[in-house]
Formats: sequence, structure tokens, C-alpha cells
Amino acid sequence: MSTIISAENNTHFFDDVSKNFDYAAQFTQHHPGLLNQIKACNSVYHFKFPIRKGNDFEVIDAWRVEHSHHQSPTKGGIRYSEMVNEDEVMALAALMTYKCAIVNVPFGGAKGGIKINPKNYTTQELENITRRYTVELIKKNFIGPSIDVPAPDYGSGEREMGWIADTYATMNPGQLDAMGCVTGKPIALHGIQGRREATGRGVAIATRECVSVPEDMAALGLTPGIEGKRVIVQGLGNVGYYSAKFLADFGGLIVGICEFEGAIYNEDGLDVEAVFQHRKSTGSILGFSGAKKEFKNSAEGLEQDCDILVPAALENQITAANAANIKAKIIVEGANGPTTPEAEKIFYSKGGIIIPDLFANAGGVTVSYFEWLKNLSHVAFGRINRRFEENSNLNLVNMVEGLTGIALTPLQRATIVKGASELELVNSGLEDTM
Ligand code: GLU
Repeated sequence: MSTIISAENNTHFFDDVSKNFDYAAQFTQHHPGLLNQIKACNSVYHFKFPIRKGNDFEVIDAWRVEHSHHQSPTKGGIRYSEMVNEDEVMALAALMTYKCAIVNVPFGGAKGGIKINPKNYTTQELENITRRYTVELIKKNFIGPSIDVPAPDYGSGEREMGWIADTYATMNPGQLDAMGCVTGKPIALHGIQGRREATGRGVAIATRECVSVPEDMAALGLTPGIEGKRVIVQGLGNVGYYSAKFLADFGGLIVGICEFEGAIYNEDGLDVEAVFQHRKSTGSILGFSGAKKEFKNSAEGLEQDCDILVPAALENQITAANAANIKAKIIVEGANGPTTPEAEKIFYSKGGIIIPDLFANAGGVTVSYFEWLKNLSHVAFGRINRRFEENSNLNLVNMVEGLTGIALTPLQRATIVKGASELELVNSGLEDTM
């Protein structure tokens, strides 16, 4: 295993997701034809566009896949990666459908991909690529607040979402809801407090809740509670970094961190922020003074002693080739599809449990939902909260319903109340961020 953190060699990702769907579907009473309709990708748009690079032109490959239109808009991130391919985007779009359904966020699933390594492009070139990508989506009606709403994913972030929002708004003058065309925007550009860390926070909360169940922990030979649980995190990007930080805040012990360049380990714990800063200044996690062991082969890092493994980088990381060597008893899927179905079988046969991606990393799209609602309603949560405090007869849910005109389901109501306090949206000073 030398190519860990590479999705290149997996062209079966969509099949893998479909296999998991089939497994779950056998427990339902639905007509097979209907199940097949749910499983299929509704629209797959592959396009190419040129950009100028120095004195040259380069043709960029790009995709947007809308997996299911059972709810509108469709929703999902855009991956900037030189390994991105159609099968991968289709699989990730399908996962978004199931993820949104599980947390009852009213979106169909979608995903986008731009086949570039962002590190090989200047900021100006990345802006050109992102704006052109957006224009191509606009031309084919693949973006819009009620059509399809992108978000960040591997290789993209707030900056790119800001460019998308600006391009969309410019091309749709006078459209009141234009800012709802994309989520994960910078706070100053109609984004929302808490979105950046939301996926990692959700991963950490899912882990904390899982390890708090005494019967499950007893079956694994572990004590209940997150305190002192030894965790290895793969990936120090947005999801991995915040997962590690919140897990440490909750009392977990981050004993290992894996990245492209290698892995580091210390059974007494690693200071996540210090590792992050070390990588920022040196370009590598290797050479970190607080590590007791380091591995040039990143894959070895996954196989070190720990209680919980959080793969938070890319798909296809725990496969039939390494599943038997994983020492963790619990895998929490921070990334989408990091464990292949074959690996799952092996891991389960060893008695381990897996918290699946659909649930574990749904915090991102959950907060995206709040951002989208805020953009549609033109009212910041802070303002809602202030008015809520001013009039104690009205509760937050009624305010959201009243202001958006959307009738929420009981679960959505509960999610808003719980999410608002859990995600600290209330009292977070959003008055200033609208
Ligand atoms: N890329 C994220 C995911 O996989 C973002 C989804 C969203 O906010 O739309 O869940």
C-alpha cells in the first residue's frame, strides 16, 4: 500500500455505493423498479473548457452530477482534484442524496468535480477556472438556489464559493435569492457562522455519542465515554483538522495523524494545532518534534494502535488489502466512502463497528441548509434570535417558518432547536454577518 490518499485506483466507487444501497433496500418493502429509480444518477454533465495558462491554453475536464431530484434543489460540494473522475462524482452525488435523507435536510444529492491539482495554479488562474466552471453550469441550468446548490469539498473552500456566488449573481442581475446559489461562502459574503468547522464538529459529535453507549462499548471491550479514547485521524484538511480538534476538546487523545507525506504517532497524544502549524510552516507533518514515531508510508499510520480511526481524507482508504491490519475497534467515516464494502466485511468479522459517512459527516450539509435558509429569507439567525428574545411568545422554529414561508417537518423543527444550540448559531453574533 503506497498510494494511500489516492482515489485513482478506484473505478468502482459508484458500484460500491450502489451495493450498500442494495443491502439496505432489501429491508424495505418498496417496488424494485422504484428502488432502481432512486439508485440511478438522474443527470451527469461532463464538460470541458479552456483556460489560459501563461502563453498556453489548457483544456479542463469538469463534471456536475445531480443524482436525485426527489427534492429540490440538489446539493453537494465541488471537488478540485487531479484524480477526480466521472464514477467518483456519481458516487459522491449518490452519497449526498442518502446523507440529506438521513439528516432530513430537504435536498436531493449532487456533486461536482474539476480535474486539476489546485497547487499547480495561481490564485488568478483558480479564479478563472472557478468562474468559467460556474458559467458553464449556468448555461445548462445546473446551478441556482432552487435548482442545484454547490458547496466546498476536497480541494475547494470559502474562497471558491465566494467566486461562484459572485459569478452567479453577476449573471443573474436582480435575482433576489442569488446568494442561495452556493453554500460554504465566506461570512462576509452571506456565509454563516459555524459552516467551516461544521463537518468536523459533526464527526466529533457522532463519535462522542457512539462511544457513550455502554452496551456497545462493552461488546468492544472499551469503557463508555470519549475521555481518553485513543484516536488516529487521517487527513489534516478542513474535515480532519476540525474532527481532531473537537475530539481533543471532548477529551479524546489524538495519538496519530496521517497525511500524503507520511504519518506521525505518539501514544501520549499529539497537539493538533501544533501539528497543523508545523505542517503549514514546513509543508509536512513529518519532523514534528512532539511525535515519537513517524512513517514515510502514510498507510502504516492507519495500522497503529488506537481505539478509534477517523479516515477524513478521501474514499478507498481502508480496503481488503489493509482492513485486517487496522487495530482500531471503531471507524468513523469523516470522508465519503473511505471503507470499501470488502473492507467493511473484514472489519465487521473482527468485531469492529463503523459509523458510516452518511451520518458521521452530515454536519456540513446540515449547516449548509441553515446558510441556504438564511440566504433565501434574507434574515440572519442572529436577527431571528434577537427578535425571538424580544418576543418570548414566539419560538425560533416559528420564526424560521414565518420568515421563510416553509412548513418544517417535526424532525426539522427538532433539528433546528437542537442544531441551533449545538452549533452555537444562537447568540453567535450573526447580526453583523447578514
Ligand atoms: N462536500 C460536503 C459533503 O460531502 C458538503 C455538502 C454541502 O454542504 O452541500 O457533505
